[in-house]
Amino acid sequence: MQSIKNYINGELVDPISETFIENPDPATGAIYSLVPDSDEPDVLKAVTSAAEAYPAWSDRSSLERASFLSSIAGLLRRDLERLSLAESVDNGKPVSLARAIDIPRAASNFEFYATAIQQFSSEAHPMEGTALNYTLRNPIGVAGCISPWNLPLYLFTWKIAPALAAGNCVVAKPSELTPMTAYLLSELCIEAGLPPGVLNIVHGYGHKVGSAITRHPDVPVLSFTGGTKTGATIAATAAPMFKKLSLELGGKNPNIIFADCDYDTMLDTTIRSSFANQGEICLCGSRIYVEQSIYDKFRRDFVARTAALTIDDPLDEKSQLGAIVSKAHMEKILAYVELARQEGGEILVGGKQVYLEGRCRDGWFVAPTVIEGLSSDCRTNQEEIFGPVVTLSPFESEEEVLGFANGTAYGLAASLWTENLTRAHRVANHLQAGIVWINCWMLRDLRTPFGGMKQSGVGREGGIEALRFFTEAKNVCVKI
Ligand code: NAD
Repeated sequence: MQSIKNYINGELVDPISETFIENPDPATGAIYSLVPDSDEPDVLKAVTSAAEAYPAWSDRSSLERASFLSSIAGLLRRDLERLSLAESVDNGKPVSLARAIDIPRAASNFEFYATAIQQFSSEAHPMEGTALNYTLRNPIGVAGCISPWNLPLYLFTWKIAPALAAGNCVVAKPSELTPMTAYLLSELCIEAGLPPGVLNIVHGYGHKVGSAITRHPDVPVLSFTGGTKTGATIAATAAPMFKKLSLELGGKNPNIIFADCDYDTMLDTTIRSSFANQGEICLCGSRIYVEQSIYDKFRRDFVARTAALTIDDPLDEKSQLGAIVSKAHMEKILAYVELARQEGGEILVGGKQVYLEGRCRDGWFVAPTVIEGLSSDCRTNQEEIFGPVVTLSPFESEEEVLGFANGTAYGLAASLWTENLTRAHRVANHLQAGIVWINCWMLRDLRTPFGGMKQSGVGREGGIEALRFFTEAKNVCVKI
């Protein structure tokens, strides 16, 4: 049984309470590690250590800070296999996915911001003959970074890397459901020689550790990724303290398929955008709208392709869908399938728990599920399920599908399939989403702004947006 430790002031330490949370492997249901059940006193220690490290860290040149980030990226790449295995066991995702996406992206996050900070510049606003304004973008201090369980190391590092690159020190909290790769990252930070206190990682529950980070008066900037409800709680705490806040929240993303699309590419990609990572990606398209003229063909092909997906032991290289992250989350997904039935939906494929043989016989697996016959305003089509469940609906016209697509409280991402260039641009322009993919999905350029509108979040991550978020702009006006 591995005991995870907090990373505070450069050291790996147990929580002050010396109590731990049992952490199961979702593929087997067996407890395989212990997570610190940290609380406010641990967070206080972490914030103090970050505050003490801050002046020296922010005084270093961006090149010096970048070289630490590059070293960490190199160590993540060196340990690709070990980290991929750890991510798969902790989260339930196929090890092949962790190896291809999660861990390489975590390394890229550090590498990207090591480079980006050296390109980061600010503006000057000359007032002809009178004065010169120039903008300083200084680090803020101690940044709080809180992340979810679905892409554990990928999203954790997506916050930490820009915060550190910009010169802040960090107190970070990974999800209590998937803490292992964050713990392994802390070991790599020590190996990379990151100065004590620059990055602190405190493990434990959201209502204890996350809440203590959010409330702490010496954490003036907070970057959060997780559920919309949690985001609202954090915003309610942070707003009266005037903290700078970035919220990346839930989604209910539409996937709009016009009859004139490149059908085969669309079908391959729609299988991925529906069920990759067991549908536990905030960007998965969970509402599939198909133009009426190809609806029957699409339904037949899509259901056949879904039924052929391999749900298996995540450690098996052939597994295409692994386990659901927790028993509670599996039960939530299955409850939504039941709700869909009650709302009049027809389950075309899936809709149930999958019981595997052998090592994974007690694991939490859900069959990829396709549902049709639901109205666009029913709960199944309005609420985030965050699992391998999609709904199919036909549409007649562009106007109608735009109404369906935009008709939820969320606005994170949307996909759009058409070979008609004019329509593609027109529909993209009208979609209420922070990210629109045309004829693709999850094609990511780390320089682009990333985030959602409506109840999917506030602010943008990625590229220069994150560096701007983790710095304070100051205008200096010099009279000439
Ligand atoms: P969650 O909101 O339950 O937890 C996210 C993190 O917040 C965890 O570390 C948790 O411990 C912590 N937390 C919980 N309560 C807290 C509190 N009161 N104060 C401070 N921190 C608290 O979300 P989850 O179940 O881990 O993740 C799934 C959700 O994340 C989905 O809604 C998904 O759409 C969303 N998500 C969004 C994005 C995005 O980029 N928009 C990316 C990935 C996941």
